[in-house]
Amino acid sequence: MISTHQPRQATAAVVEIDTDAITHNARLIASRMRGTMMAVVKAHGYGHGASTVAVAALAGGATCLGVTSLEEARALRSDERLAGVPILSWLNRVDSDFAWAAAEGVEVAVADLEHLRAVEEGVRIARFGRTGAAVGRVHLHLDVGMSRDGCATSSWPRLCYEARRAELQGLLRVVGIMGHMGCAARLEDPANTRAKELFSAGVLAARGAGLAPIMLHLAATAATLTDPECHLGLCRVGAGLVGIDPSHTTRLRTAMTLRALLVAVREVEAGALIGYDHGYVASHPMRLGLVAIGYADGVPRSVAGRGEVLVGGVRRKIMGAISMDQLVVDLTEVPAAMGDLVTLFGPGDGGEPTLADWAGWAQTIELEIVTGLGARVTRVVSSHGGDC
Ligand SMILES: *Cc1c(COP(=O)(O)O)cnc(C)c1O
Repeated sequence: MISTHQPRQATAAVVEIDTDAITHNARLIASRMRGTMMAVVKAHGYGHGASTVAVAALAGGATCLGVTSLEEARALRSDERLAGVPILSWLNRVDSDFAWAAAEGVEVAVADLEHLRAVEEGVRIARFGRTGAAVGRVHLHLDVGMSRDGCATSSWPRLCYEARRAELQGLLRVVGIMGHMGCAARLEDPANTRAKELFSAGVLAARGAGLAPIMLHLAATAATLTDPECHLGLCRVGAGLVGIDPSHTTRLRTAMTLRALLVAVREVEAGALIGYDHGYVASHPMRLGLVAIGYADGVPRSVAGRGEVLVGGVRRKIMGAISMDQLVVDLTEVPAAMGDLVTLFGPGDGGEPTLADWAGWAQTIELEIVTGLGARVTRVVSSHGGDC
């Protein structure tokens, strides 16, 4: 049987990942920085697929990968397209499989003595019964002003001293020192100057303790794009790869387009209640479309009353509350029918809302939207072939 229809999609909501956009963004950012680019692909590549983002970013000039757990590192290691690519994992649980990391050459960031000991122990286990001498490749992580991950400045001398001791025992090699800035999206914030000073002092202290790190890294996307003083030889870039610039200084390409199916269409009279809690009362006879995506799929409930979609070539408002699995859009005078796809957001080229629109409606940041898509949303990877 010959069908003229498009192939049926497996689920009602589909997110399309444009790998050319990721490669383009990586290339553009690489052209603005000095040194090596680490592609940060934590949180499933910011919701875009860790391996997908990694492969596309490597094509655009990234040469190593960053994640926040050894589980994420393990998933990347099992992808043959990424064979041999250096990986750094920070924020590791103290009971992580550091023996595996040592055996695989996966680098780990360490911010306290407990983790340092755990990594040393992992190296000993990795060596047990083997001839090859695994060495733990460690980055020491210094807190430069966020009181979050990273070693407090007061504990830093001791951490450096103990790391050096482990080096002299042949267990570790401190290959890097990292810091992370809390206000880099605002170039003028004095906290940035302070962070840079703390980092420099931390590097000096580490060298004073006998360490000889070859990778110094402080910048994420925002500082990479706005502050060359932070290009210390390695920049950790995540958001920028998928088209999000926290500094709002650079035009990047959005890599994600979220669509969902129009599963039903109906006409209602004036006065009809729409959705939970009388979220909207029809002021006139309306044509309504039911879209099969809801807050369980990552559509923030907070956009109610503001959110829009692109349907039948025009922007239309979401009516009433977002439900768990569905939302209602105004289709009055819109040439759209059951089975059509509605675009929630994308790059904006076709008139669809952008991620920035959604972040504004939901009063959040774009990163929360892309990382919040639910498990039911099918990810489709596309490449349009050649862009620059
Ligand atoms: C997530 C993360 C990054 C990447 O930040 P972006 O702003 O997404 O580029 C860099 N460094 C650390 C420590 C991170 O946790």
